[in-house]
Amino acid sequence: MQEATPETSADRLTAIRTRMDAAAKLARRPGEDIHLIAVSKTRSVEDIAPIILAGQRLFGENRVQEAASKWPALKERHPGVELHLIGQLQSNKAEEAVALFDMIHSVDRLSLVTALGKAMQRLGRAVPCFIQVNIGAEAQKGGCSVMDLPDLLKAAQDAGIPVAGLMCIPPADVEAAPFFALLAELSARHGLPQLSMGMSDDFETAIMLGATYIRVGTALFGERPRIV
Ligand SMILES: *Cc1c(COP(=O)(O)O)cnc(C)c1O
Repeated sequence: MQEATPETSADRLTAIRTRMDAAAKLARRPGEDIHLIAVSKTRSVEDIAPIILAGQRLFGENRVQEAASKWPALKERHPGVELHLIGQLQSNKAEEAVALFDMIHSVDRLSLVTALGKAMQRLGRAVPCFIQVNIGAEAQKGGCSVMDLPDLLKAAQDAGIPVAGLMCIPPADVEAAPFFALLAELSARHGLPQLSMGMSDDFETAIMLGATYIRVGTALFGERPRIV
C-alpha cells in the first residue's frame, strides 16, 4: 500500500475554497463577492511562496515591520498579490502602512484617522480602509465602540479616506454569529458595502451573515509556531 502524502498548504487552500463556495451557495450569494485573505503573519517567505503559486492573491499581515521585511520582494516577484493590514496600527507608522498595504482593516480611533488621512495625501495614494469595531465591547481588544462608530466613520470620510466597510474580531470561545450579525447590521445602516469578518474557526458562519473578506491563517498554513 502507498503511504499517504502529507497534506500541503496548496491542498488546504483548495479545501478552504471548496468550503467557501459551499457556504456561499447555501447563503445564495455569488462566490465572487467573498474574498479570501491568507493570513501569513509569522510565516516565512518559503511558507508563503507555494500558496502564491497555487493561485492565492490576497494576503494579510498584522505587523508593519514584519510585512516590510517579507513583502516588497514577494510583491516584485508576483505583481498580482495584494497585501492587507489586519493588525493594530500605530499612528507613527501610518505613512509606512499606506505605502506598503493595499487595504487597511484596523482603523479604530481618531488619531489614526488623522495620521492616515495625512499620509494618503502626502503619498498621493488612496488605500481603502475598514473601521474596526470592538463588537463584543472587550476591554483588551482593539476597535472603536459601537457608540463611537458614526463619528469615527464621518471623521474618516471627511479626512478623504476611502472607507470600504467594517471589520471585527468577535470574542473568543463564544458563538460568533450574533456578533457577525450585529456588524452586518451596522454596515447596512451606514451604507458600507464590505464586511471583513470570519477566521479559521468561523468563516462559514461569517459568509452566511454577509462577510465579503474572510481572514484565514491556521486552516491554511497550520498551527502558528508561536502565540501572536
Ligand atoms: C491571526 C489573525 C487572523 C487569522 O486567524 P486564524 O484563526 O489563524 O485563521 C484573522 N484576523 C486577524 C485580525 C488576525 O490577527
